[in-house]
Amino acid sequence: MNEAHSMYLHIPFCQKRCSYCDFNTFSGLNHLIPTYIHQLKREISFYGKQFANDLPVKTIFFGGGTPSLIEGKLFKSILEKISDNFCVVANAEISLEANPGTVTLEYLQNLLEIGFNRISFGLQTSNPLYLKLLGRIHDHYQSIQAIQWAKQAGFSNINLDLIYALPGQTIDDWKRTLEDGLNLSTQHISLYSLGIEENTPLHDWVEKGMVENPDSDLAAEMYEWADQLLVENGFACYEISNYYKVDEITDYRCQHNLQYWRNQPYLGLGAGAHGFSNGVRYENVNGIMEYINLQKGASLSSALNSPVAKILTEVDSFTAMQETMMVGLRLVSEGVSILEFSKRFSASPLEIFAKEIDFLMKNQLLEIVDGDIIRLTKNARLLGNQVFMQFVD
Ligand code: SF4
Repeated sequence: MNEAHSMYLHIPFCQKRCSYCDFNTFSGLNHLIPTYIHQLKREISFYGKQFANDLPVKTIFFGGGTPSLIEGKLFKSILEKISDNFCVVANAEISLEANPGTVTLEYLQNLLEIGFNRISFGLQTSNPLYLKLLGRIHDHYQSIQAIQWAKQAGFSNINLDLIYALPGQTIDDWKRTLEDGLNLSTQHISLYSLGIEENTPLHDWVEKGMVENPDSDLAAEMYEWADQLLVENGFACYEISNYYKVDEITDYRCQHNLQYWRNQPYLGLGAGAHGFSNGVRYENVNGIMEYINLQKGASLSSALNSPVAKILTEVDSFTAMQETMMVGLRLVSEGVSILEFSKRFSASPLEIFAKEIDFLMKNQLLEIVDGDIIRLTKNARLLGNQVFMQFVD
C-alpha cells in the first residue's frame, strides 16, 4: 500500500500582479486557462498511472496565483479527474486560495457543491492605503463581503492571510487590521511578515527610497502583539505563523500544510509546482507555455519521469532527517516526536543531532517536553530561521 500523499495544484494566473509578489504567477494570460487546465488534467493522469491508480490522497490544495479565477465547472472536471486516478480519502481536506476581489455568492456555493471544504482568502490588510500600495485588486469592503458570502454558501473552515511589517506601518495600524480580521470570525488566520523580494516593484521603491524598508524590531513587536491578541480570542498557534480556532469537535489546523511540516509526501502539479514523493524532490518548469507544450508532447503511458519535472533531487536518509527537524520545529506545539522520528529513520534525533540540540537547549531555544517532543521555546519563535540553520550541514 502506498503512503498517503497530499496534492498541490498550482494555478499561475492573476488578474493583476501585486507590487510585493515574487510567486510564479502571470497576469494577462487568462485566455490560456482552459488549455492549462486541460494539461493539468493530463499531469493528474500521469501521476495516477505512476501509482497504479491506488495512491491515497488525503488533502488537495489549489494555490497560486489566484485559483478563484477558475470557473467552477473547470474545478469540477479537475476534481473528477483526481477521483478517477487516485483514492481520495473520505473527508479529505479540499482547499483553495481565493482573492476577495474575484468571488460571488453563486461561485462560492458552486465550489462547496463540487467538494471544496476549506477556503483561504488573501485579505492582507484592512487599510485602504496599504491595499493600494500592495496593488491588491480588492478593497476591505469586498473582503468582508467575500467572507460573508463564503459563510452564507456554507463554508465553515475559512482562513485569512494577513500581512504585517508594511512600509511605515505603525503598531496601531496593524492592530486595526488584526481586529478587523478577528471581527470576521474565521477559523484560521495566517500571519506573514512582508518580505521585500528582488524583482518586484516594491523592491525598486524601497531601493529608490520612495517607501521605507520595514523595521525588523517593529516586525517582531507586531508578531508578539498579534500572538497575544489571537490567543486571547480563542486561537492557538500551531505553526510559527499559523493560528487556528480551538474547537472541541473540529480540528481547524490546515491539514495540507501539516503534511509539509511533518515532512510527509506530496505531489505538486502545474507550472512551477514542487513535489516530494518516493524520496525525490522535484520542481516543475515555471513558464505556462513551457508547461503546456511539454505536457502536450508527452506520452503519458510510456514516460518514466514526469515530462514537466525539471529539477529532481534524490533525498538521502541524512538529508531527510535534517529536513524533518527543520520543518518539524516550525510546529510550535507538536514539534518533532523523538519516538516518531526514531521509528521513521531507525535512529534517535538525540544521537544524530546531539551537538545541535545540546547547543540550542543551552541557549534556551529548544526544549524537550514529556520526554518525547522536541520543540522551539517561545523565545525562539522569532529566531526560527537561526534555529533551523543549525540542522543544515
Ligand atoms: S494575487 Fe497573490 S499570487 Fe497574485 S500577484 Fe497578488 S500576491 Fe501574487
